[in-house]
Amino acid sequence: MVISAIATAEGRGGVAIIRMSGEGALAIARKMFSRTGEFVPNRMYPGEIDGGAFRDYGLLVYFAPPKSFTGEEVVEFHCHGGREIAHGILRRTLALGARLAERGEFTKRAFLNGKLSLSAAEGMADMINADSEAQIRAGYLLYGEKLATECRRMQAALRTALASVEVDIDYPEEDLNPRSRTEIEHTMSEIDASLSNLMKEYAVGKKLKEGIRVVICGRPNAGKSSLLNALLGYDRAIVSDLAGTTRDTVEGQLSIRGVLFHLTDTAGLRASADRIESEGVRRAEQAMRAADVIVYLKEGEPPAFPAGTPVITVGAKCDLVRREGCDVLVSSKTGEGLEALKDLLYARGYGREGDVMLMEERHYRAFERAEHAAADALAAVKAGLPPELYAEDLRRAYAALGELTGETASEDVVNEIFEKFCVGK
Ligand code: GDP
Repeated sequence: MVISAIATAEGRGGVAIIRMSGEGALAIARKMFSRTGEFVPNRMYPGEIDGGAFRDYGLLVYFAPPKSFTGEEVVEFHCHGGREIAHGILRRTLALGARLAERGEFTKRAFLNGKLSLSAAEGMADMINADSEAQIRAGYLLYGEKLATECRRMQAALRTALASVEVDIDYPEEDLNPRSRTEIEHTMSEIDASLSNLMKEYAVGKKLKEGIRVVICGRPNAGKSSLLNALLGYDRAIVSDLAGTTRDTVEGQLSIRGVLFHLTDTAGLRASADRIESEGVRRAEQAMRAADVIVYLKEGEPPAFPAGTPVITVGAKCDLVRREGCDVLVSSKTGEGLEALKDLLYARGYGREGDVMLMEERHYRAFERAEHAAADALAAVKAGLPPELYAEDLRRAYAALGELTGETASEDVVNEIFEKFCVGK
């Protein structure tokens, strides 16, 4: 069945693309394009496109299977980027026998045809949905099959190990073949170590995907709103001379070296008789508990910080007063120390040089299951248990890794992933 959809974003633009995939896509395209004759794959042909009640002058590209995005016959029409033009051409493809594509159906077909792994498809979605450069880079690593390749490497080792275990099971007279046990012990320790290393990445990857939560706290009038504005580079928060005027939390987003930071400016942390303000204080404390890193504007007695959260102590208004015992001195007025503060935020809030590829919870959970199975197998081998027992653990580890690449993922999981895509992708 040929599917068809507008591949570009809805609305007016320079160019819109209508994409079809499936056997017969070229036959449909021929019926609505002025040029006849042969279409060499991967070449653009100019001509008139039939939009039903109108014509547009545009381009046709044909991709021959299997060297197309979906692995099927693919045709794209590039037309002028008007909403009605694109819809008219889409309607024409449907009238000629194509069906409207579902969300993510092109990519799903690519996955089902073995053009990319499930994790690569997720990486592509991460890139499209990225709010920061680092997210794009992480998504691109997934899209480039970096994680899937690592999984397949571990799967190959498991297959080899499983083959020797199966020999032990099939020929019990040669039972307790010490070679296979040592070999399996070695393989499983290696896989266990690789998985643990990868899983460590998730703490950083999760932050990368969600952004790092920074909470700015300090007494009223300490300069929190001014600092938030200075970091964001625009007047996001209202700055006031009156103590206690930032009643609620005010937020903004900042990119530091391509990594996304969510900044929250809290109401002054002080006991207050004012009901609204004490509500603000409550929220500030709540915000601090949810923070990945706290920026504390030093003044008087520090508040009680949640255990385990890194705190950056800032000496604010350093153009007026240069406080002792701070990590960094900053002036929101002159800009002094702002870059140093951003460096500290990056180091203590993110702390990673180089790219990350484990940022999807689904991948983490699959690794977790693989690691448990690997650990069980290792324990069984070491305890000298019968090979039937750890053979099952090896198969479990293999299947868990296959969930990541999509090889063993259930239909529900696959559908859920592609439903998150937009129509036309
Ligand atoms: P908040 O209550 O902690 O949010 O404090 P604000 O950001 O509203 O600042 C309180 C007062 O201090 C305002 O009058 C600001 O103009 C002033 N202020 C804030 N940062 C600086 C700074 O770096 N230098 C100077 N000279 N004044 C500042």
